[in-house]
Amino acid sequence: MEDCLFCKIISGEIPSTKVYEDADTFAFRDIHPQAPAHILVVPKKHVDSVAALNEENADIAAKCLLTVAKVAKQENLENGYRVVSNCGPDAGQTVPHLHFHILGGKRLKDSMD
Ligand code: AMP
Ligand code: ZN
Repeated sequence: MEDCLFCKIISGEIPSTKVYEDADTFAFRDIHPQAPAHILVVPKKHVDSVAALNEENADIAAKCLLTVAKVAKQENLENGYRVVSNCGPDAGQTVPHLHFHILGGKRLKDSMD
């Protein structure tokens, strides 16, 4: 999708620190990390957010979550991690391409709001 930041990162037009890639997903380090490990997992196919998932494209979310599990192992987050997907304005979604934050490497705050 034109003018989508994460589509440009996936294509390599905008540089990123890649940590994992397969046929369907891409993972890279967040530019403003909020934890010692802060990685974004995105589908290569553009989907706006969780709100745009449906019966036809649900496999995209499943593939992203499999990549989350693989990347967490690769990053040695065996003590745990948090997976966050901000969806829409109230959640503060700033990039309208579905993405899952992996946050770990420290004891995270109990509050999630
Ligand atoms: P969200 O606020 O949930 O939409 O998350 C978007 C995330 O993308 C934020 O945590 C940003 O720090 C991150 N981000 C924005 N631009 C870049 C970039 N060029 N490379 C890596 N991460 C980025
Ligand atoms: Zn996109």
